[in-house]
Amino acid sequence: MRISEIGEFGLIDRIKKDTIVKPQDVLLGIGDDCAAYYGTSSDKVALATSDMLVENIHFILSAGSPRQLGKKAMAVNLSDVAAMGGIPRHTLISLGISPDTSVEFIEELAEGIKEEARLYEVNLIGGDTVRSPLGLIINIALIGEVESDLIVKRSTARPGELIMVTGDLGGSAAGLILLLEEKKCSLVPPPLAQEVKSIHLSPTPRLKEGRVMAREKVATSMIDISDGLASDLTQIGKASGVGAMIYAGKVPILPAAKRVGELLGVDPLSLALYGGEDYELLFTTLPEKADSIIKLIKEKLGTKVSIIGEIRDKEQGLKIKNLSGEIVDLQPKGYNHFSSFSTRG
Ligand SMILES: [Mg+2]
Repeated sequence: MRISEIGEFGLIDRIKKDTIVKPQDVLLGIGDDCAAYYGTSSDKVALATSDMLVENIHFILSAGSPRQLGKKAMAVNLSDVAAMGGIPRHTLISLGISPDTSVEFIEELAEGIKEEARLYEVNLIGGDTVRSPLGLIINIALIGEVESDLIVKRSTARPGELIMVTGDLGGSAAGLILLLEEKKCSLVPPPLAQEVKSIHLSPTPRLKEGRVMAREKVATSMIDISDGLASDLTQIGKASGVGAMIYAGKVPILPAAKRVGELLGVDPLSLALYGGEDYELLFTTLPEKADSIIKLIKEKLGTKVSIIGEIRDKEQGLKIKNLSGEIVDLQPKGYNHFSSFSTRG
């Protein structure tokens, strides 16, 4: 069945089932002129973020299933709330859809969005659907909250603090290469290819980790890695007015990304530094707190945290000490072909 056969209202009727996960927080969900939800308490501030994804610019439909696409579109917004140390609460989804799209496709896409939202107790309270002659457009707005004294910004890193990152990097970039250049898959054992592809298609937002970091007041600044470690660290540097030194040998590269890089002749460190879309958290902390946060996050959540460098004075710029010991500028670049067909903002 085509979307044009059931129209906008028919489509909304199908999507609006099971959208409210926490009914006590919502007065009105989908179906009135506005949604209405109960506000945040006075000790908290509201967080809001939105992300627009356009077919053939940020994603290609052939790369994964519509359900995966929906889940990921939601996950990248959740990741932005994680990077503030916040709790996500409500979401609004707007879709631009070409009339010949099948109803089943959109239902699967919506299922993916709702599945990810449910996982983190986020209510789907509204949105819009419009006709789009140029392909699918997915716009997700996410509303969350965080205690005003616990919010973690980008602008509050100070010289002398350590730079840390959750998890391993480079998996998403390795997966994207294989999704875009199918011929290269023959060079990589199928389970390995599968592993990195699924990291690209199904990232996990680090909400629990972000929350622990905020509650324990250990992160002095934070950002999620969407554009790539080098680029996102540059954002912290700019916002905080600081420089930084990264030690290449300490950057945690996902073992599968390392192997795929080696098999394809791509430098694995470059995948980790410039590839992006790993959706790990990059944060800074006081040196005396580093060991305890590594232990705490490992014990509480099973997530690894690595120290990869330190914040320096602005005058020293952003540098990386290579494996050979040479110190060079850290360029806030990404691979050119990564700039298309990926959900990075
Ligand atoms: Mg972000």
